[in-house]
Amino acid sequence: MLALSPMKNKVLHVFSQWHLAVPLDQSGISSRPGRLPTSCWNLEKSKTAVKAAKNAFPIWSSKSPLERSQILNKLADLIEHDLEAFAQAESKDQGKNWNYELFSACGNKALYLVLFQEKLLPGLISPWNLPLYLLTWKIAPAIACGNTVVAKPSEMTSVTAWMMCKLLEKAGVPHGVVNVVFGMGTKAGEALVCHPDVPLISFTGSTLTAQRITEKSAPHCKRLSLELGGKNPAIIFDDADLAQCIPTTLRSSFANQGEICLCTSRIFVQRGIYSEFLKRFVAEAKKWKVGNPSDPTVDMGALISKEHLEKVMLHLVYMISSYFLEGARVLCGEGVDSLALPAGNRKGYFMLPTVIAEVKDESCCMQEEIFGPVTCVVAFDTEEEVIERANSVKYGLAATVWSSNVGRVHRVAKRLQSGLVWTNCWLVRDLNLPFGGMKASGVGREGAKDSYEFFTEVKTITIKH
Ligand code: NAD
Repeated sequence: MLALSPMKNKVLHVFSQWHLAVPLDQSGISSRPGRLPTSCWNLEKSKTAVKAAKNAFPIWSSKSPLERSQILNKLADLIEHDLEAFAQAESKDQGKNWNYELFSACGNKALYLVLFQEKLLPGLISPWNLPLYLLTWKIAPAIACGNTVVAKPSEMTSVTAWMMCKLLEKAGVPHGVVNVVFGMGTKAGEALVCHPDVPLISFTGSTLTAQRITEKSAPHCKRLSLELGGKNPAIIFDDADLAQCIPTTLRSSFANQGEICLCTSRIFVQRGIYSEFLKRFVAEAKKWKVGNPSDPTVDMGALISKEHLEKVMLHLVYMISSYFLEGARVLCGEGVDSLALPAGNRKGYFMLPTVIAEVKDESCCMQEEIFGPVTCVVAFDTEEEVIERANSVKYGLAATVWSSNVGRVHRVAKRLQSGLVWTNCWLVRDLNLPFGGMKASGVGREGAKDSYEFFTEVKTITIKH
């Protein structure tokens, strides 16, 4: 039999005392109630528990599924062995009759059906950087599952959504299936988030807005899919094929003016090839042509807005003023080269692709999403070191790893805290695959199967016979 009380915190296999405790036995049926340690009065213990779990993670996660299942089965056997004591304890806690059988794993004569049903009325909110793509990436799976939707494109880039609305009718999408509201996020977007009849929100945008959406939707217990910002590393080992790596890393840094959530903004280069990489990378960056986006010879167009350009510049100014003297160097672009624009474009919000080297990992340029054509290059020595440094930001969206050593590529990809890892390439995508970020880069995944699960409600039906 198990000893039921007193209860104590258990961290790292150690049972320790509580400071204050609340009495157990909600149902009031016990003659000898237990005591429950309360973590809110025992913050230090909670912190120790989090630390212990963090430390144990590398070992537990590297065990094979077989090893883990052996342990879990053993636990199940042990619980089964003490089943009576467990049943009595739960009975005291909650008041249920202790021989109540919740379910049995086998032996029932019944037919089980699992239905994926449409969820009705998801709210879809998309950003400005890839307007039509990101909006349709949400609308298509949502309505394919049988839902009817309300979608809100970014107020900055609503035109293609408006154009699509006209085509919906032409395509035969019945009235009311896709409803698009145009307007500001704080008004039109938030109205959707707070609406009691919109049970789920699929949001792509900034981490800051996602925090607000999480708060606002919490009272309604909404299901959320959040696709957010990134601070994506490229890790380049000294056996990388630089002929492939350099043009791809230029694209991954500066494509769409660096305004893609998947863009690289921290480039870690192994010390043996650092100087050569930097020389060739900067030389190629300087060749990038900035100008009228409709000119087919142009590599980079304008940033989305005056405000956004100012924000990107602010990062640079801040970084330069606080770190320049400590070794960081702007090697090309803003503040170093001059931007020659055609006469008709001089009032546009353009900037040059900018490369900064030897930036400190703690600087804002290495920690915050800039979402513009700015990339930082730093040197590293070992595999272990670079994994730790690459993971040392709050984001975890995408990473690229460059190496011809297959074993290393696998090892590093597995340990990066990143929802997506590209090895020896960037942005090679199959839209059926799961897409999304870890940490502050998102909650949930989108893509064929994941979108299907997000946009449907699972119902389990048991028919006894
Ligand atoms: P944003 O968060 O400012 O806006 C995104 C959308 O949310 C817009 O439609 C906006 O109107 C709406 N919105 C704003 N405030 C709202 C509120 N309070 N309630 C409801 N809706 C609100 O983001 P942005 O500036 O348009 O886009 C850039 C960000 O999006 C970057 O951080 C980028 O990394 C991220 N992004 C992520 C992905 C991804 O898949 N992970 C893809 C593209 C862009």
